[in-house]
Amino acid sequence: MRLILPNKMTNAKKILITTETLELFVVHRNASVFPQRTCGLCSTEQTMLTLDEAVILAAIGTRKLMSLIDGKVVHSVEASSGHLMVCQKSLRNYLKHKHKKEMNHE
Ligand SMILES: [Zn+2]
Repeated sequence: MRLILPNKMTNAKKILITTETLELFVVHRNASVFPQRTCGLCSTEQTMLTLDEAVILAAIGTRKLMSLIDGKVVHSVEASSGHLMVCQKSLRNYLKHKHKKEMNHE
């Protein structure tokens, strides 16, 4: 029993650390409410996502996303920090069309 107990303690500690990290992530996400920026291609204020957020939202790879941005299918704006921000509306439009295409193929 004495040998098992320290192991359990270690596991409990690990779980606690993981939970704290997740909570921090959630808090961070809530704090950084998606910024609104004027999208040059929409000419209106749009919710701008970071590349990572766009990749997660669209469930496509970064390479695929970059090629869509290059082809102006998905709009992007370069933030003053140098980060590429993705226009959520254009991404959603792309996803809608992609979904329709997939439906037609069936
Ligand atoms: Zn746009």
